[in-house]
Amino acid sequence: MAATRVFDVIVVGTGAGGGTAMKILCEAGLSVCAINSGPRTEPARDYKLHRQVYDLKYRGYGNPMRLEGKAHQEPYSVEESEYSENSDIFEHDVAYSNAPGTDWYWKRCKGTGGKANFWGRSSARFGDIDFKAAGLDGFGENWPVEYAEIAPWSTKAERYMGVASTVQNRPSNPDGEYLTPMPWRCIEYIIQKGAEKIGVPYLPDRCAQLTVAHDGHPACHYCGNCSRGCDVGSFFSPTWFTIPQAEATKNLTLLTNALVRSVLVDEDGKARGVAYIDRTTKREVELYSKVVVLAASCVETAHIMLNSKSRHWPTGIANSSGQLGRNLSEHLYGCPGYGYLPQLRGQPARPDNIADSTVAWMPRWQNLKNPHEEKFIRGYSVYMGGGCGEFPGHYSQLEGFGSEFKRNIKRYYPTPVGALIQAPTLPSSENYVDIDPRKKDIFGIPQLRFHFQWGTNELLMWEHSKQVMIDLFKAMDAELWGMDDEPNRPGTSLHETGVCRFGNDPKKYVTNKWAQTHDVPNLYICDASIFPSSTDKTTTMPIVAFTMRTCDHLLENFKKGTHSRV
Ligand SMILES: Cc1cc2nc3c(=O)[nH]c(=O)nc-3n(C[C@H](O)[C@H](O)[C@H](O)COP(=O)(O)OP(=O)(O)OC[C@H]3O[C@@H](n4cnc5c(N)ncnc54)[C@H](O)[C@@H]3O)c2cc1C
Ligand code: SF4
Repeated sequence: MAATRVFDVIVVGTGAGGGTAMKILCEAGLSVCAINSGPRTEPARDYKLHRQVYDLKYRGYGNPMRLEGKAHQEPYSVEESEYSENSDIFEHDVAYSNAPGTDWYWKRCKGTGGKANFWGRSSARFGDIDFKAAGLDGFGENWPVEYAEIAPWSTKAERYMGVASTVQNRPSNPDGEYLTPMPWRCIEYIIQKGAEKIGVPYLPDRCAQLTVAHDGHPACHYCGNCSRGCDVGSFFSPTWFTIPQAEATKNLTLLTNALVRSVLVDEDGKARGVAYIDRTTKREVELYSKVVVLAASCVETAHIMLNSKSRHWPTGIANSSGQLGRNLSEHLYGCPGYGYLPQLRGQPARPDNIADSTVAWMPRWQNLKNPHEEKFIRGYSVYMGGGCGEFPGHYSQLEGFGSEFKRNIKRYYPTPVGALIQAPTLPSSENYVDIDPRKKDIFGIPQLRFHFQWGTNELLMWEHSKQVMIDLFKAMDAELWGMDDEPNRPGTSLHETGVCRFGNDPKKYVTNKWAQTHDVPNLYICDASIFPSSTDKTTTMPIVAFTMRTCDHLLENFKKGTHSRV
C-alpha cells in the first residue's frame, strides 16, 4: 500500500454536497483533498446535447450492447443515453444487491459533480411543517432543527445557486429569494384554471435555473436539454459552480477514479483518513487527514460507513446507535394520470419544452389545517408535464399508419399532458440498507444491499392522486388516456434520505444537529442521509443549505481548536 500526504480535510464526493463542502473549506484556506469515484466530467466531451436524435446512430437511445460485460448492466434513463456515450461518467462497474422482494433501482453518476450535473432543479425549501411533522401527526421523529434556524442557510443556498420562482405564501412551502420566474406556456394556464376549479394550487415551481445572468453564469437560452447536462452552466451544477471555484483557491487536490472503500481510524477510533481503490491500477491506497467529510450521496455514504469496521466500530464507523443504514426513505414516483387537451389539437407545434423540466407544480395541499384530514398523514406534491416535447410520446395513443398517421401525430403535438406524483415514504424498520454478507464488487468491496417496500401511507397518497387527476382532467375539459398501474420502482426519484439520520440523542441518531457524527467528532456528513424523513419536496437545495451550515460549524471547530490543522 502506498502512503500519501496529509490534508486538513478529505471530502468524499464532489456532487451537490461534496462540491459545496470543498468550495467552502478551500475558500477558508484549508488544504482539501476531494475524492471522486469516477473521471472528471468535461462538458465539451461529455454533453452532446445540441445534436438531434436523427443525427445519432441509435436515435438517442445508445448502443444496446454498450453495457455488455459490466457488473451492473441496467441502463439509466434520460441523463444516460447516446448523448453521453463514450464518456464513462455513469456507474456500471460497482454492483449492488437487492434483498428478496426488493426492487431498488440505484442510479449513480461517478463523474465529478455526480448526479447534480443532470438534476431536475426543483428547489423548494423545507419548513417547520417538515421539521416538526412528528409533533403534528404523532409519527416518527422531529428533526433537531427549526425553520428559523435554517431559513438563513436556505437563503444563502438560493442566492448562490440562483433559484427562479415567486413569493406564494403557502403554509407548506416557505418563500425564499428568487430570480424572475420562468415564463409559462399556454398549457400551464389551462392546468392552473382546471386546478383552481378543484381547489388545488398550481404555481411556479422553485427552479434552480438561471432566468437571468447570475453571479458570472449566463442566463438560460432554453434549449431544453438540461437532463443531458448544460453546456453553458445556466443551472447550478458542481461542474460549473463549486468545482472551478474550489480549484481557483489552489487549496484543492482533486483525485479522480478513486473509489473510497472505508474510513480509517486511529487508536482512539477517530477518523484519520480513508482507504480508496485507484480504479486505474486497481490498488488500494490510504490517504490521511485531520477531518473527513462524507458526501458520496446518501446510501453510498452509509455503504462506506458500514464497510468501515474496526475494533472500535464493529458494526461500522459511528454506529453505536445501531441506526446506520436504517430509516431508508424516499419519494414514491409514478404517473397518476395522462391524456390530452382537445382544445389545443391542431394548434401549431412549436418546441416549447423550454426547460426540460416542470416550470410549475402542485405544492402540497393536503393535511395543512389538520394533520389527519386525509386517510394518510403528511402530504405529497405533483409535477405536471406536457406540450411539445422533443419526442411525440403520444404516438402510442393514436391509431393509423403512413402519412395520415404522421399528420395526426402532428395535430396532437401540443396537446399531451401528464402528472408525476412526489409522495414521501414514512421511515419504517423494514426499509434499510446493509452489507451483503456474500457479495463483493469487482474491486473486492462488500456490496450494499437494499431492503425496501412501499408502505400503506404512501400507497394511499398514490390512490388519492389518481382521483385528483380524474377530477383535474374533467375540470380542464381534457381527455384522460390512462394512469400507471403501479408506482415507479423504488429508487427512481433519487431523493433517498434517512440512513445516517441526525438528532440530539447519540443513542438514537448517527450525527448531531450539525451533521457531525456523535461517536467520531472529526467525521461529518454532507448529503441527504442525515435527513430523518422524506418530505413533499426534493433534497438538493436543502443538501446545499445544510452543507453550508455544517461547514460553518466545522470551520468554527478548527478555530476553537477542536480540530487541529496539519
Ligand atoms: C435526472 C435527475 C433529476 C433530478 N431532479 C432533481 C430535482 O428536480 N430536484 C432535486 O432536488 N434533486 C433532483 N435530483 C437529485 C439530485 O441530483 C441529488 O439530490 C443530488 O445530486 C445529491 O447530491 P449528492 O452530493 O448527495 O450526490 P451526487 O450529486 O450524486 O454526488 C455524489 C458524488 O459522490 C461520488 N462518489 C460516490 N461514491 C463514491 C465513493 N465510494 N468514493 C468516492 N466518491 C464517490 C460521486 O462520484 C459523486 O461525485 C435529480 C437527479 C437526476 C439524475
Ligand atoms: S435549457 Fe437552459 S439550463 Fe437547460 S441546458 Fe439549455 S441553456 Fe442550460
